Amino acid sequence: MPSDTPDPGAIAAAVRILQDARKLAVLTGAGMSQESGVPTFRDELTGLWATFNPTELATESAFRRNPARVFSWYVTRLSRVRDVTPHEGYLSLVTMERHFDRVVVITQNVDGLHTRSGSRHVLEIHGSLERFRCLDAGHPYDRDVLELADGEEMDDGEMFEPPLCTECGSPVRPGVVWFGEMLPESEVELAWQAAADADAMLVVGTSAEVFPAADLPRITAASGAKVIEINPSVTPISSYADVCCRGTAARALTAISVELEHQLSLG
Ligand code: NAD
Repeated sequence: MPSDTPDPGAIAAAVRILQDARKLAVLTGAGMSQESGVPTFRDELTGLWATFNPTELATESAFRRNPARVFSWYVTRLSRVRDVTPHEGYLSLVTMERHFDRVVVITQNVDGLHTRSGSRHVLEIHGSLERFRCLDAGHPYDRDVLELADGEEMDDGEMFEPPLCTECGSPVRPGVVWFGEMLPESEVELAWQAAADADAMLVVGTSAEVFPAADLPRITAASGAKVIEINPSVTPISSYADVCCRGTAARALTAISVELEHQLSLG
């Protein structure tokens, strides 16, 4: 049975690493947002729109085949993440920033919660639900797509045709990275740089099954820097992480932030 509350010994070991670090990289996945009520990928398979296979919703060909269905699924997800509040683990990451020269948060999440909670350097390598653009030319869509629902709460399965780009008439698509697509070039370059330059990396709530993001902790480890994993379950990262905090993101990050503050106050 995975544990929610991390072992104090693991928290202390993580803090010892962080006390010596100047440059911190943080890699987060869907587990980071679970305690804010955003389902993980696995949860989504049984929850939101469970009758559809998410892999069939998250491709360009699926969008071309059925633009209303795919567009509506993303508008529904956006509407749900706008309703959630970033949990205390998000805020702990922001609090910890003052102890480092630089903290770069690299997230696979598309929910925008790191940015909303105030993290300064966020790289959204899988895109964001908050951004839409046109399918053919990539022109940004600058209206709020939730206005299409006229402010009404949407029911699962309610369909909206995507609006058309005002510049070229092509349908508007979500600004997330779909299966088979390249990751955004500039974010990827900065993420790889941050992983290679970091003195330590916190890896939070990722199953490490989606590549190339799953390679990032290995890059940090290969440079001789330390890797700290926060996850209630064992993942492929656990085999080489320097410390594994077996607990949830909110509990472990809060415990680390409080203990780091305490140790630094002792001088
Ligand atoms: P994943 O669903 O494959 O794995 C989630 C991981 O989080 C698991 O290892 C699980 O043990 C762990 N976990 C669950 N609850 C946790 C908690 N409270 N605290 C800490 N860890 C917890 O997610 P992934 O590795 O990010 O890969 C899935 C892909 O799906 C990614 O590309 C991601 O962009 C996308 N996705 C994003 C969101 C989001 O934006 N919030 C949600 C679902 C899926």
